[in-house]
Order: sequence, then structure tokens, then C-alpha cells
Amino acid sequence: MATGGIAKSLLNLGLMPELSQDLDVLLNWLHEQELTAQGGCMDVVPGSLNAEKAECYSGERVAIAQATGRQSVQRLKQRELKALKERFKNTQPSGVTEEAVWGAVQDPRTAVRVLDWNKLPADAMAFYRPFHYPPFDQWGIYLLIGPLLSYHRRLVELSGKQRLYSPEVLMHLVLFEVFNHEFFHHLVESTATTLEVLGAARGDKIPLYLNYRQWARGEQNTYPHAPLEEALANAYAYNSLSFISRIKAGYRTAAIKTYQAAIRKHWHLEPKGYRDAEYYIDGAYVPGGAHLLAQLLGRPASTVNETPLSCIAKTVMPNGFTAMMAKPDIPTYLVGNSEELMLFNKLIPAPNEAYTQLFWPYNTEKFDRYVQEKKEEEKKSKLLAKQRISSKQGVFPW
Ligand SMILES: [Zn+2]
Repeated sequence: MATGGIAKSLLNLGLMPELSQDLDVLLNWLHEQELTAQGGCMDVVPGSLNAEKAECYSGERVAIAQATGRQSVQRLKQRELKALKERFKNTQPSGVTEEAVWGAVQDPRTAVRVLDWNKLPADAMAFYRPFHYPPFDQWGIYLLIGPLLSYHRRLVELSGKQRLYSPEVLMHLVLFEVFNHEFFHHLVESTATTLEVLGAARGDKIPLYLNYRQWARGEQNTYPHAPLEEALANAYAYNSLSFISRIKAGYRTAAIKTYQAAIRKHWHLEPKGYRDAEYYIDGAYVPGGAHLLAQLLGRPASTVNETPLSCIAKTVMPNGFTAMMAKPDIPTYLVGNSEELMLFNKLIPAPNEAYTQLFWPYNTEKFDRYVQEKKEEEKKSKLLAKQRISSKQGVFPW
């Protein structure tokens, strides 16, 4: 291999860095440099928080011991994915009507007015355990299946009249939103780690991430939308939905856009910080990211006005490229008893593909076709109306 050859010559020249690019090397280095803190173990039992009151899990305090059981999520192989599509090729989302889909295509916002949704923050149903809190075999995203299922049950009841989502589709949307919220916490930790490594490389070793976490939830944090990280995590999940719905109008786009409209309408019911996501959606993630960088650097008040942090936030970090581990590969665990896991797997047959790409195996061709036909009809009637107006105008002499 060519790269092997290059690597070998670097080795011969004594230019190969002693510390490799492996993540394990980085984690051990963080630990040796005393940039990590001891993570608590089992002082909060998943599911014990009151999800109704929107209490949130904080990753550094929660750890799932192996003994409690956690199911690691794996990517499906091509052959498994093909078999899954084959199995569901005649399964349409149940309870959905063509009219409801067309209504949502025309205006996604009108479809959500009827929802009286007790919106819960993602962190009431999942948490990110940072790698700055060893043991290192426990870091990653934990999806708490019990709380997710009961939240989903309530949403199914609420949205039933809309005839737009099947229970399966709704669970895919909830899972995607929750996972992407948690993934943003990984982006923040990855950004902090990058700054820590670069700082140490120039002789300035500071535990930026630990300091930031302590500050972010303390009284000294007077940022108007504190904790900002939560507002940005909600906005990131929202923006990720926008990113995957840039395809032609059909069932998928209608379902995503309506779900986004519902999220926006109900954010205000979430706790402080989470509820301020509206300020940071679409392009506004950039100024939000600049403030977050200033906070990570421990200079929240002035840095953002004195240095072009917005430029860094737009092009460098925090964004998907900052991640120490990409979305499909980040350690992700399903936590729940066997009955809950069975129910969940029935709703989501391919979890990894669902939370990374909103993949579902159901057949939506009928609805896609209906939307396309209605769009054609709409185009034709607009054209006719235009022709009628111009022929009418022709009657008048002026
Ligand atoms: Zn969060």
C-alpha cells in the first residue's frame, strides 16, 4: 500500500509521532494529563427521574454498569438492510391518509395547531456520557427505552387525529431528534478536547472541558439562554432534520417538516436553555457557536466581541467535522428491560440507520405519487387561472 510506504519512510526518518491517531491514545493522554474527572457510578438509575417534570440526566453522574445490561447498537450490513427492505416492501405507514399528507405538504404549520403536546427535553429520555469521565468503556450515547416508549405512547394518542404519522414513523422522528441532540454534546466535548490538545501543545495545559461544565450549570453563568449548550443541541437536532429533508416533496418531507413545526411550537415547554433553541436554528447556529467557543475557552464575556470566533464557528467547530467519532460509529446503547427492547425494535427495526439518516423500511410510494399528482394539478390550475386573467384583460381596449 502506498500509505504504508510513506508511513514507513516517516518511521525511518524518525518523523512518526510517538502518539498515534487512535482515540484510545487520546483518551489515555487526557487521563494522564489530569484533564479528566472521576465519573460517578449508578447514583441515578435510568428511568428514576420524573420525565413528566422534565428532569434531565447529566452524563457525568450517570453510568450504566455492565451488570444492568445495555445493548450496543450496531450498523446493519448491506445484506441485512436489503433483507429488511424486502420484508417491509408492501408495508405502508398505517393510519395515514393521502389528504393529510397533501395538507402537510401545503402548510406543515397548520397540521400542528391541534397538538396539545407536553414536550419533554431530549435529556429526559437519553444522555451523553462524556469521555472526560472515565471509565472509558462507558462513554457514548445512552437511549433510555422505557422513557422513550412512554413519551411515544402519549404522542401517538395526541397526533392520531392528524392521520399523518404511523406509530412507527413517529418513533423514528423522536429517536432521530433525541439522538442528534445528544450527538451535539459529543461535538462540544470534541471541540473542548481539540482546544485542550492544542493548548497543551503550546505549553498551556488547562482542563477546559471540566471547568466549562462546572461553570455552565453554576450561578456565574449569566448568559441569557443558559445553559447555551442545551439550546444549541436542540437547534442542532432541528437543523439535522432540515438537512435530511432536502429532497422532492412526498411523504417523508411532509412528515419531517410537520414534525419540525411541532418541535418549534412546543420548545417553550422545555426547561431553561432548551426552550431558547429558536434563537439558534438555521444560520443562527453560527453566533451561538461563537458564544459557546468563548464559554469553552473560559472567557464568556468579552472574547466573542474581540476575536472573530464566528468565523471559527461557521467553518471549523463545533460542527460535524469536529466529532472525535462520526455519527454511525459513536458508542450508542439501548437501555431497558427485554420487553421494552422488544417493543422498541418492533417500532425501529434498524436503529443505527434510523438515528443517523432517518431510514425506515416502509413503503410510502402511494403517498409520494398522490403528492406528485396534486402538485401537477395545482400547477395546471394556476396556469389556467393565469390564462383566464390575461384573456380577460384582452377584452378591455386599454
Ligand atoms: Zn442535552
